[in-house]
Amino acid sequence: MPRKEGAKVFCQVIVDIVHENVAKPFTYRIPDGMELAAGQRVAVPFGHMEKEGIVTALVQETDVSPEKLRDVIRPLEEYAAVPPELMALAEDMARKCHCPPAETLRLMIPAQMRGGRVHIKTEKTVFLCAGRKETEAAAADTRSRKRNAILNLLLDSQPRTIREISEYVKDPRETLKKLAADGLVEITDSEIMRIPGESVPQASDPGYTLTEGQREALDEILPAMEKGEGMFLLHGVTGSGKTEVFMAAVRNALALGKSAIILVPEIALTPQMVSWFRGRFGPVAAVIHSRLSAGERYDEWRRIRRGEARVVIGARSAVFSPVKNLGMIVIDEEHESTYLNDRHPRYDTREVAANRCEREKAVLVLASATPSILSFAKARRGDYMLLEMPNRVNERPLPDVEIADMRSELEGGNRSVLSGILKKALKECCTRGEQAILLMNRRGYNSFVSCRSCGYVVKCPNCDISMTYHIGSRDGLLRCHYCGCTMVPPSECPDCGGHYIRYFGAGTQKVEEEVRKLLPGIPTIRMDYDTTSGKDGHGKILEEFRSGRARILIGTQMIAKGLDFPQVTLVGVIAADLALNLPDYRSRERAFQLFTQVAGRAGRGSIPGRVIIQTYKPDDPIIGFAARQDYRAFFESEFRRRRNGLYPPFTNLARMLIESPDEENADRKARETEKYIRRLFEIHPEWQKKVLSIVNEPPSVQMLRGKHRRQVLMKTLVSRETDEFFSALSDLTETPPDGADIYLEVNPTTMI
Ligand code: ADP
Ligand code: ZN
Repeated sequence: MPRKEGAKVFCQVIVDIVHENVAKPFTYRIPDGMELAAGQRVAVPFGHMEKEGIVTALVQETDVSPEKLRDVIRPLEEYAAVPPELMALAEDMARKCHCPPAETLRLMIPAQMRGGRVHIKTEKTVFLCAGRKETEAAAADTRSRKRNAILNLLLDSQPRTIREISEYVKDPRETLKKLAADGLVEITDSEIMRIPGESVPQASDPGYTLTEGQREALDEILPAMEKGEGMFLLHGVTGSGKTEVFMAAVRNALALGKSAIILVPEIALTPQMVSWFRGRFGPVAAVIHSRLSAGERYDEWRRIRRGEARVVIGARSAVFSPVKNLGMIVIDEEHESTYLNDRHPRYDTREVAANRCEREKAVLVLASATPSILSFAKARRGDYMLLEMPNRVNERPLPDVEIADMRSELEGGNRSVLSGILKKALKECCTRGEQAILLMNRRGYNSFVSCRSCGYVVKCPNCDISMTYHIGSRDGLLRCHYCGCTMVPPSECPDCGGHYIRYFGAGTQKVEEEVRKLLPGIPTIRMDYDTTSGKDGHGKILEEFRSGRARILIGTQMIAKGLDFPQVTLVGVIAADLALNLPDYRSRERAFQLFTQVAGRAGRGSIPGRVIIQTYKPDDPIIGFAARQDYRAFFESEFRRRRNGLYPPFTNLARMLIESPDEENADRKARETEKYIRRLFEIHPEWQKKVLSIVNEPPSVQMLRGKHRRQVLMKTLVSRETDEFFSALSDLTETPPDGADIYLEVNPTTMI
């Protein structure tokens, strides 16, 4: 067949191999009769192998010599898996994250689609061939009860899968075969969508009258959506009704024929939000979470890609959902660190969302009761429009916060993890039949085990970390929270042979035990990493508490997020200092967020709430800001501290992290890396000007999972030159390994 004038006969393909030397697209010939579009996945020859790739562009000409050109083997789907806006986003991200585009393109499709590990599901499906009259006549005419039942079932609604028919008619296969032979029905393989199981109860629309705060926020968001531009930071105190604002905005998006993406920090911890959306938007809402099977995820993705699902709720990766006609992206609890991807490619979901919204003419809504320093600073600078909801719905007051000074408790002879005032409050709360939440930011029973005589601390054999004591169903075990390895606690000191082994530092298990001793007969429930590992572990615990079967919920920071339990009137923060004392420049920000968020769980119903924060540092300003729930004062103080101390967002904190099973090798690599960087500066003095400091000093954890760790720490200004510098450093991480791994981390979520 002769080609049409101007037909695109070649295409450029990013081959799905992540390796520096294949970062660029390759040109392939499109065989006669094959139609392709940009964004479509194809199989192509690559060396002696067949590889998958994504078409980035169609071209009429190429300077690749004809004998080198090879043909596209076949398209992998009939449609472009990655729509044009997401192709552009992937390109942008590759540039910003200093990684090959193959790596960012992978984010745009369900992982299992690569390598054909997931397929469309089909099932034998029965259609009526004859018209209604004829079928009715045939049904009336037959003496077979099965035949009659099947025909009536299909008359009622068709097509039906054989599996569905079997629910009404026992063993229908033989009868169906006969019906097909008689030309009354046709049986074909049809595509079936795997809809994820409904594990959350659905909630219907309560039809609230919006509060003034909600109204005002929507008065800004809705016109912006119509216009197709606007970025907002919604700062609403806990219980101000932010979810209702999202829902009204989503309804508006749908009415405009647009789609919306709602991002939540972790879907397992936001079952209420999910059920609200499911209940109100029905099948037009898709929920993406990590517990979906590969098939369910693929089908939800296809429902979105086809435009059948237009509201997507999910965690971080849902920002890449291929929705049609994007109208809005909401990032709820925008301060959460789960929005930073800590694996390659490292991206900040808030930046990716802003990029998408700008490109696709959508509005961005970041929301939190405790916005990140970064986002609030941007709002003050005018990058985002600040929307404030300073009051709770129905004029409910924010809870009263009291501080329990643990120093005077100790002086008074109280060695328990619970202060006198918290004990009293817990008792009163239970007597009134209300519920309480206790935050203990560490799991296990005791956080370390040590020898009284020589001070020896039991550490993990693979990690430079003390072992935590856990009570098990039978015996207690020491457990490493980093690699998971366990050991039986020693009865004598492995170092000095002494017999005075003592257990220190309380965790959630210990708190639970003390509460049970204090309030025998009051059912408690514990929510931490250990109790939520099973299937739907979070959901079961939350349901136990919601139903009132459990009266006191004890847990780690996972209980601080977005939960709305009206019966909770008391919140206790058991050990505030744990959060404050972490060796990280962000620990103050995180501590304030944690205390304010968990305090916000109290008094959400009609009864006012009370919060007790236990601390050995009652004068710490962060404790004060949290007690007064004064975000502004917190922000000003923390912003000033960051500026004076040259911390992010004023600078970047970066490191080259080196890991090797061999300690000397790790040491040598660290020295070489530092030298390499200094050589880079000789060639690029303009980079050096942006680097404030560079030191080769061991990280706080020098061994992790059996690997020795070293780091070269850098503090840099924020500039274009810094980006180039980081880009050059990231090349270093791709050199062939010689027993050591090197990672570049720029403002990582943790710096242990
Ligand atoms: P936030 O996320 O801001 O902490 P939520 O969105 O969880 O707050 O809302 C708090 C509670 O108030 C929820 O139970 C919600 O159903 C209820 N609520 C929200 N808006 C209204 C309203 N306009 N009138 C009455 N109740 C509301
Ligand atoms: Zn370990």
